[in-house]
Amino acid sequence: MALSGIEIYKKLPKKNCGKCGVPTCLAFAMNLAAGKAELSACPLVSDEVRKELAEAAAPPIATVTIGSGDTAFNTGGETVFFRHEKTFVNPTGFALLIRDTEDDKEIDSKIAAFNKLQFERVGLLLKANLIAIKEESGNAERFASVTGRVNEKTRAPIILMSDKIPAFDGAISICKENKPLLYAACRDNLEDMAALSKKNSCPLAVRGENIGELAELAGRLVESGIKNLVLDSGARTLRQLLEDQVAIRRAALLKKFRPLGFPTIIFPCQMTDSTVDEAAIAAVGVAKYAGIIVLSQLRGETLFPLLLERMNIYTDPQRPMAVKEGIYEVNKPDENSPVLVTTNFALTYFMVSGDVESSRIPAWILVQDAEGLSVLTAWAADKFVAQTIAPFVKKSGIMDRIRHRKLIIPGYTAQILGELEEELPGWEIIIGPRESSNIPTFLKMWKA
Ligand code: SF4
Repeated sequence: MALSGIEIYKKLPKKNCGKCGVPTCLAFAMNLAAGKAELSACPLVSDEVRKELAEAAAPPIATVTIGSGDTAFNTGGETVFFRHEKTFVNPTGFALLIRDTEDDKEIDSKIAAFNKLQFERVGLLLKANLIAIKEESGNAERFASVTGRVNEKTRAPIILMSDKIPAFDGAISICKENKPLLYAACRDNLEDMAALSKKNSCPLAVRGENIGELAELAGRLVESGIKNLVLDSGARTLRQLLEDQVAIRRAALLKKFRPLGFPTIIFPCQMTDSTVDEAAIAAVGVAKYAGIIVLSQLRGETLFPLLLERMNIYTDPQRPMAVKEGIYEVNKPDENSPVLVTTNFALTYFMVSGDVESSRIPAWILVQDAEGLSVLTAWAADKFVAQTIAPFVKKSGIMDRIRHRKLIIPGYTAQILGELEEELPGWEIIIGPRESSNIPTFLKMWKA
């Protein structure tokens, strides 16, 4: 397992200089152990310790990056079996399978579905992440041409799949900068695929006939110096898949078995012809540690519940979901529109904004950073009180956007009325409803 915060602290320079962004080496060590900081943030660590810590502090399941730039997809990096033990780090990626035997019209329609099927929930954009292009035509030029088509129409990270080494060259040359995942090294082509991966600095998938063979092949690749691996145990039945997924995670976390310390890729698209069954298999994969799930098609009715499942499992239970502090406009407000203030707890914000929106009355919502706490909790913790709200209102810029000086506060914080009037001289503080659902009725009485 990774080192504890105290073990890491013993190896740090202990200068407490703050250059790493936190005031003490101990705080930095704790952040490092929790995966919330990078060792590179401390400029004073010696090369020797850097090497030692980098290896020791590395998560038992390596993080593998597919793609580059702002669309790069990270998988792996996990340290626990269950989310409630700490948190899961990199959400499962959904990949859409495109075969190079499909005609261009069909391919374009799949790419269009990939680009279109996006859902916003509590401020998060939920969507599929990657496109897997499979060479089945036996024609390297066609494989390269489909890769070019995908690369041109979407910025998604790509998985290139073929059993034939020569087929990769043309396709890789088209998307080399995008660092595609190469699928897959197996017993017959291990050295050639390893060489291809090294030559192009691309991550590599490795497939075994079973988990035993997978461990052996992955071990050989690790020994040859390849660090960016994605594992396919070869399981193509639901039961085997479930068993392998659990066994791989157990081996990586409990036994620190390096050859299996990598994220996995699974293929519901190869396990059934039924759309519903494919979604059900994918759902098991999300629940049981799959790094990447390859689907034969994207349909809203099956993708949406999978995305929600993923969001629920990969939400950090220790960190409240929050929206950014700032001014939010609802229903195109103007200088006479009401101003409501609330906290940045995502659920609070979306309830308030939803109720303001349904009132059809234009309004400004000031969202104050209260560390993601709800109104009452933040008030009780002194994070949403007159002394935090007043400075925020002043610096927010809302005064340049409105002519009046009236501020509506949540009904549950009526106690701060007097103090807030003192902190915001010249403002009229209005106590709003306790429940967000009463906002539409309340706003009907608004007069600037
Ligand atoms: Fe300690 Fe390094 Fe952070 Fe300075 S930069 S406080 S030495 S961990």
